[in-house]
Amino acid sequence: MMESVTPDRPKHSHAMLAPDIETSCLIVGAGPAGLGPLVAAATSDKLQALLKAGITIVEAGLVAGCGEIGRYAISSDSAAEAFLDALSGTEYPQLVRLKDHHLAAAIRGRIGQAIPLKQAAQFLQLVGESICGMVKESRRGHVFMQHRVLYTRRTNDGGWITTVRDEQQGTLRQIRSKSVIVATGAEQPLSRLYSEEVAGQALLPKYAGKVLQSGYALTAGGLRQIRRELAAKSDPRVAIVGGSASAGAVAKALLNDKTRIPFGSNGVTIVHRRPLRIFYPSAADALSDGYTDFEPQDICPVSGRVYRLAGFRLESRELMMRVLRVGGRDVEPRVRLQQVVPENTAETAKILDDAHIIVAAMGYRPRALTVLDAFGNRIALQCDTDDMVPMVGGSSNVLSASGRAIMGLYGVGLASGFVPRGRFGGEPSFKGQANSLWLWQHDIGEQIATAVLHDATAMNVSNRSVVPSSYVEVPREQQEGVA
Ligand SMILES: Cc1cc2nc3c(=O)[nH]c(=O)nc-3n(C[C@H](O)[C@H](O)[C@H](O)COP(=O)(O)OP(=O)(O)OC[C@H]3O[C@@H](n4cnc5c(N)ncnc54)[C@H](O)[C@@H]3O)c2cc1C
Repeated sequence: MMESVTPDRPKHSHAMLAPDIETSCLIVGAGPAGLGPLVAAATSDKLQALLKAGITIVEAGLVAGCGEIGRYAISSDSAAEAFLDALSGTEYPQLVRLKDHHLAAAIRGRIGQAIPLKQAAQFLQLVGESICGMVKESRRGHVFMQHRVLYTRRTNDGGWITTVRDEQQGTLRQIRSKSVIVATGAEQPLSRLYSEEVAGQALLPKYAGKVLQSGYALTAGGLRQIRRELAAKSDPRVAIVGGSASAGAVAKALLNDKTRIPFGSNGVTIVHRRPLRIFYPSAADALSDGYTDFEPQDICPVSGRVYRLAGFRLESRELMMRVLRVGGRDVEPRVRLQQVVPENTAETAKILDDAHIIVAAMGYRPRALTVLDAFGNRIALQCDTDDMVPMVGGSSNVLSASGRAIMGLYGVGLASGFVPRGRFGGEPSFKGQANSLWLWQHDIGEQIATAVLHDATAMNVSNRSVVPSSYVEVPREQQEGVA
């Protein structure tokens, strides 16, 4: 079955192509998520098996391991140990020796606390360099830095041919693989600000000139710009649209002493749809703190944690507990919550009208990748839309527009939309994106590593029979984790 056809399928002169590479698995994007399956595999001999089968990594940037996480001038919402966990349970000396690195020691000194994302990025880069080093040293491994994947095409035998551009030379090369892991990160498309209504109207074009995306607002440059624009205001007012971790992070960053913005009472309004939730290590902890805003379906059955996925963590959590007045904490008078309901549309619109700056923290959409079938026609993906639908299903396979898992094509990382369930834990009530690099380096990464190894052995690439591309899709109802 062909999903959709684009007449303008990519064409490149073969004269420009560097020689083909054959590999078992191609990883597109060497950020925290792309390397997650290799980190997960490093706790067993699975990594050795993957390296033996042949891994190729293609990364558009200059460095591996950290992706974009270091661009934000804020602290993590994962505790220090979540980062260090990349090194636990492994016996590979290339990783074990990193435990003695001064960065690991510095992070170890902050167990249970947040760390600056810049520091997290430096540490992830160390891990990334070690992992990439192991791939390069392996007999069948390749690492291409400053190379960008343009698109991938299904081969008749159920594998993939991926076209890659050398960002410095402009030359192209093709990589033939049995599986592809798409870990290209995510973005905040401007189009969503034109289409998604907040209080009856899209933020753009109405509020053009005063809207910033949260991803930019959380950078040093973004925070400087906000400070500059509010400098002359006697009663600065910011509206943050969204209720996720990013919204909490923006509020925390704006109120930070270092930002020095003289917000008065209700200077920052968080305009959100879903109720805001607080993470607790257990129901007993929550109750003893006077927090009762949860039901049994909000508790992770594996860890017993309350709002394990949906809850605010660490510094944002402290702020939100003050805003929500949990457990008799001092109220934070500068922050007001406005939960959007049909009855308060006019009031919400006035908050947006009156704000000097609106920060849109409306989530991320995956960058994904252009995927072609064996005939060169584009396979429409479920995530080819601004709607907040996942890129992947319960088996981490990328989903086509009809919700079918595309075999041998995996997706992981920011906004990929994997919803942990069952053995992965997470509260059953959770809706949204679980953007945790710990999960990518553990359970989700492990799942992908296992699948990739299975593809490496199950698929006989030398037997190139001609079958339609739909042959390799699993009906939605047969996918693991799709109810
Ligand atoms: C503000 C913020 C704070 C966060 N804080 C935390 C936190 O505390 N803890 C946590 O666990 N998670 C956190 N996250 C979530 C997540 O861990 C990070 O966003 C992380 O950077 C996502 O990793 P990634 O690999 O999916 O994407 P990225 O970091 O964006 O990496 C993608 C990589 O793919 C490369 N790439 C893209 N396209 C191509 C292509 N076509 N060809 C080749 N290479 C390509 C890019 O160059 C990049 O290196 C945070 C996210 C945000 C936005």
